[in-house]
Amino acid sequence: MKLQDKVALITGAGRGIGAATALRFAREGATIVACDVHEDDVRQTVRDCQDAGATAIGLAADVTDRSGMDRAVGSILARFGRIDVLVNNAGITRDARFEKMTEAQFDAVIDVNLKGVFNAAQAVVTGMIERGRGVILNASSVVGLHGNFGQTNYVAAKAGVIGFTRTWCRELGPKGIRVNAVAPGFIRTPMLDSVPDTVLTRMSDQVPLRRIGQPEEVANLYAFLASDEASYINGAVIEVTGGLRL
Ligand code: NAP
Repeated sequence: MKLQDKVALITGAGRGIGAATALRFAREGATIVACDVHEDDVRQTVRDCQDAGATAIGLAADVTDRSGMDRAVGSILARFGRIDVLVNNAGITRDARFEKMTEAQFDAVIDVNLKGVFNAAQAVVTGMIERGRGVILNASSVVGLHGNFGQTNYVAAKAGVIGFTRTWCRELGPKGIRVNAVAPGFIRTPMLDSVPDTVLTRMSDQVPLRRIGQPEEVANLYAFLASDEASYINGAVIEVTGGLRL
């Protein structure tokens, strides 16, 4: 098993890609800490991981709350002694055309998708530096590479996450910590629930593989990048898009 004995903290693990990643990691032997805004949100994820034979706990932690994240990480370290892998997965959308986007929409997305990544990574990094090893995986998006209509806030955050990744790989690589970003294309999760079927069909027509991806197809990449098989992959931004170019 790829992740035997690794302790993994996954943010936004209540559903979608985060939940699929938690389960995939559990099947690879990891101990799972599934975090989401409300503890109720991660109950099912924790049950699924335990059913797969893993040690798994759920934690209420909002990535925008810096001191809350520090407390959550403190409680994980008290219980498991270390965090080997952080998957910075939590994310939201608040789409609007640029000229109509409100300050509240802009701030909410930057707060969760950009500052939340900073908060969670900074909360875990000291322990990783002390141990001289660790893996940080950041959720970017194909739109962070190419831009997207109606997503000024989201694209800025996802492009910023690529900037974090390329900066932290330089700062933390010499300390034994690998940092990579994953840039999914269109993936079938509750995040796409608000997208009308006609638009989803148009989206899948744009993809060379002619379909929307599944959360498990992103989870597979996270599992590989978290594992020692990816020991020389650092500072990379890897697309899971079915070949989509926006
Ligand atoms: P999702 O289904 O909406 O799940 C996101 C999870 O993050 C939810 O459980 C959500 O909780 C949680 N969350 C939101 N704000 C949080 C906060 N402040 N602190 C902790 N958890 C929080 O999204 P997804 O589609 O799985 O996406 C996962 C990641 O991949 C995101 O970063 C997203 O931007 C990225 N991504 C997704 C796609 C796609 O097509 N789906 C494409 C590219 C990139 P609540 O349910 O309580 O809000």
